[in-house]
Amino acid sequence: MTTLVEPEEHQALRKAVASFAKTHDGVDNRRMWQDAAKLGYIGVNLPEEYGGGGGGISELALVCEEMGAAGNPLLMMIVSPAICGTVISRFGTEQQKREWLPALADGSRLMAFGITEPDAGSNSHRITTTARRDGTDWLLTGRKVFVSGVDIADATLIVGRTEDARTGRLKPCLFIVPRDAEGFSRRKIDMELSAEEKQFELVLDDVRLPADALVGDEDAGLLQLFAGLNPERIMTAAFAIGMGRHALGRAVEYARERSVWGAPIGAHQAIAHPLAQAHIDLELARLMMQKAARLYDAGDDVGAGEAANMAKYAAGEACVKAVDQAVHTLGGNGLTREFGIARLITASRVARIAPVSREMILNYVSHQTLGLPKSY
Ligand SMILES: Cc1cc2nc3c(=O)[nH]c(=O)nc-3n(C[C@H](O)[C@H](O)[C@H](O)COP(=O)(O)OP(=O)(O)OC[C@H]3O[C@@H](n4cnc5c(N)ncnc54)[C@H](O)[C@@H]3O)c2cc1C
Repeated sequence: MTTLVEPEEHQALRKAVASFAKTHDGVDNRRMWQDAAKLGYIGVNLPEEYGGGGGGISELALVCEEMGAAGNPLLMMIVSPAICGTVISRFGTEQQKREWLPALADGSRLMAFGITEPDAGSNSHRITTTARRDGTDWLLTGRKVFVSGVDIADATLIVGRTEDARTGRLKPCLFIVPRDAEGFSRRKIDMELSAEEKQFELVLDDVRLPADALVGDEDAGLLQLFAGLNPERIMTAAFAIGMGRHALGRAVEYARERSVWGAPIGAHQAIAHPLAQAHIDLELARLMMQKAARLYDAGDDVGAGEAANMAKYAAGEACVKAVDQAVHTLGGNGLTREFGIARLITASRVARIAPVSREMILNYVSHQTLGLPKSY
């Protein structure tokens, strides 16, 4: 029973973040990020001895969801504290931890994350960004695409691969690449998204990195990578639930007030029921997200993997549905700039595509959970 009900301290944190987000309406993202960091929200999952809050992904997801629900989402929370912060605190050297974690927590530095490649996409086993040794240095060469926030991030955690000297097989590994590293260039992608965080195509042309740019063990790449990808899925679910709640809230408010037949349009079941269904779907998605976060925080990476995938799927679908119904509820106003709901149509679709698409999650559940054969 108690595990299904949010503990009091989480409810209190939820309230505090919601009120913070409301008072920051209209404030630019950078200021909001720094103010949120000062209050301990951005680094809530990072270890206390490195300036964090000592909590887990459960708390970070809660912060992310409430920021979104208030209409002030912070996309880089999915990346900087959740993926990069987690990977560095779990696998980084003492020096990497000291250099990055306090700064990620206090908002003075930000880190982006790049895995997607033009010719790999959903199939990350096919990435070709390659690291080769040159003395004690590394030389990194490759291309990445759709990487968020590279312009505002002090460094990007790049997923590359090295060649195993014994077997010749390629192994994934993670490198911290500073924004101004020589040979590291970016081009902004013109997206149909009205978000402050931009997406970039990256070229790494023999980027020279010192030995300590490698995070974690060269031989345990896949395990370390997944330690960061599960939080990413949980956080994307939180982001989507927040956006869905925001859209739904605006629609409900409108449906209570708008009246064209003498009664508020919300009294018509054709308007009320789809909104009620959207609410139920968001609540269900949140339950799965909380399960995934708890499993992850309890150290069950395998259990968290399945739950995080299912949570991301459920949240993405619930978000798309809630936004669609919100736009419809507002009638013509649903498509105006003034009401600001139409722009969520494209934004909500991101949760269906990234960081892992709806189909790839269905593939995962088909194969891993149900034991069905693979088509690819
Ligand atoms: C706004 C935004 C921000 C992003 N930020 C980042 C970031 O910060 N860092 C980063 O590394 N990446 C980022 N991404 C990239 C994102 O993770 C990828 O877009 C996603 O992984 C899908 O890859 P793709 O676009 O190459 O699609 P593809 O892999 O080309 O897939 C295209 C379509 O084919 C389907 N498909 C592919 N394979 C199969 C299959 N086996 N079975 C059934 N269907 C299949 C997919 O489901 C999808 O519908 C971002 C993307 C967006 C849109």
